[in-house]
Amino acid sequence: MNTADNAGGAVAADERGVDAGGVVAVDVPCRSCRYNLRGLRVDGYCPECGGSVRASLGSGLLRYADPQWVDRLARGSRAVVRAVATLCVLILIAMLKDLLFDASGSGGTAMPPTLETVFHTVMTAVMVSALVVMGAGIWLITTPDPTGLGEKNYSFPRRTTRVALAALAAVPVLMALAARLAAAYPIAGVVLAALDWGRSLLMIVGPFAYVSYLSKLMLRVPNAALAGFGDKLKRWMAAGLLLIFLIPVVALRIPGVYATVVVALLMLGLWLALLLAWIHYQVRIGRALAEQADLARETWGLNPDALRGAATGTDGSRTG
Ligand SMILES: [Zn+2]
Repeated sequence: MNTADNAGGAVAADERGVDAGGVVAVDVPCRSCRYNLRGLRVDGYCPECGGSVRASLGSGLLRYADPQWVDRLARGSRAVVRAVATLCVLILIAMLKDLLFDASGSGGTAMPPTLETVFHTVMTAVMVSALVVMGAGIWLITTPDPTGLGEKNYSFPRRTTRVALAALAAVPVLMALAARLAAAYPIAGVVLAALDWGRSLLMIVGPFAYVSYLSKLMLRVPNAALAGFGDKLKRWMAAGLLLIFLIPVVALRIPGVYATVVVALLMLGLWLALLLAWIHYQVRIGRALAEQADLARETWGLNPDALRGAATGTDGSRTG
């Protein structure tokens, strides 16, 4: 701002949409409840929800957004990280179990059948819960800004992520149904194959849309490094996808039994590298969003009578 600030908490005359008398002269929706703030003083508060008028006039940065919404995004990110960490532990336990017990019974000790059943049930239950938490987390972090800000930049990847997520949740149910009907109706077999193919497609489209959305969201922090990391991650995902198709083709040309081992190790390494890159990204995003939620609470908390934001913050864990 090159205009000199007026002293005594008065209004800067160059503020967007504010007239010389410090009154909002254009239609501006409240960042939280969409109430039209036109005619209100810039240093005043929304009569509907108590939100700061100045914050609503601010740029599209997250620190001026509805703190409850930013907090929801941060909580979503944390849930995703927890769920992915749980899934990783499950995979490690399954690998350990395979090392300790011989499932085929040809040689090493097999796990007792009762224990095997219990193990399988517990593992499945934890896995399904982790997947549900992950889905819920992604759903939270893709919640649209109540004012619709940012939508023109990332509405497509944000919505695509949600559609893919909902479809991926529905596919197992539809597949189970089709599998039941397959014996009586041959067409169900075709549907089953189509669903399987569709699921593979969603597993590719979904993550790409999700990372696209996250990297664009990070521009509202604004954090160019995190936005750039998202773009890099997308390129690595594309390269990884290509390799996953290419590795088996190349491996077929390598004679001997080592080919399968090499393929298995390469694929595992690739998946692990992508998974770690994603967790790393998601953790950093979670931190950035939590920081922005705190800043937004400060912006909105300027009003001691605010009905929303810091005054009614859902978690009392805030220390600053
Ligand atoms: Zn409001």
